[in-house]
Amino acid sequence: MLSDKDTYKDKGARRLLVKELREKGIVDEHVLQAIGKVPRHLFIHNDFRHHAYLDKAFPIGEGQTISQPYTVAYQTQLLHVEKGDCILEIGTGSGYQAAILIEMGAKLTSIERQEKLFVKTSSFFKKMGYHANLILGDGSNGSPENAPFDKIIVTAGAPKVPESLVNQLKIGGILIIPVGDNKTQTMHTLIKKTDGSIEDIAMDVFRFVPLIGNQAWQ
Ligand code: SAH
Repeated sequence: MLSDKDTYKDKGARRLLVKELREKGIVDEHVLQAIGKVPRHLFIHNDFRHHAYLDKAFPIGEGQTISQPYTVAYQTQLLHVEKGDCILEIGTGSGYQAAILIEMGAKLTSIERQEKLFVKTSSFFKKMGYHANLILGDGSNGSPENAPFDKIIVTAGAPKVPESLVNQLKIGGILIIPVGDNKTQTMHTLIKKTDGSIEDIAMDVFRFVPLIGNQAWQ
């Protein structure tokens, strides 16, 4: 059972987490504000409730994990989210990253390939009043019917950048994606320039669960 209370203790723990993320180098105040607001303990199983505000990843079932808060903050900061941005997330999982983007004013489409996680997060969002277009399917193909997007964020490790995601970016759009092998991945920022060309900036190294699909790991 998931408990649905957000206590003073939880709020206090979130404040400490925000402080820790600041010390680790997160500078975007909007990102830090969103982390300070979203009740992460409600996105994970009760067994881990008391550790919810540690900067750690936790299992969310189906062999998947909720990303570490630092990783969520790092990727979100790279997205330069603005209110009203049309954003596509690949890998809904627990919905925590999605909730951060919604809290920041994004119009969000998020795709998850595991049916159990999709069903669980869909009903949780309804209960919490988070509005997003949640889709069950292979996000490595993007979402042509909802494209183009201002921003795209991939929260699973890809062997390469899926061409369809680049195609579904608006001019000036940003794609954040971890690319590598099954052990470690390098975070990439891809920006679609006015002439349609792509600037690709490689950043720090992380460890994600694999992106599995048509244009990803088979
Ligand atoms: N953003 C999530 C992180 C979950 S881990 C959170 O905040 O909790 C990554 C998720 O990507 C997993 O749930 C996994 O099932 C999903 N995934 C992997 N490959 C996918 C694909 N091709 N399309 C959609 N989701 C995918």
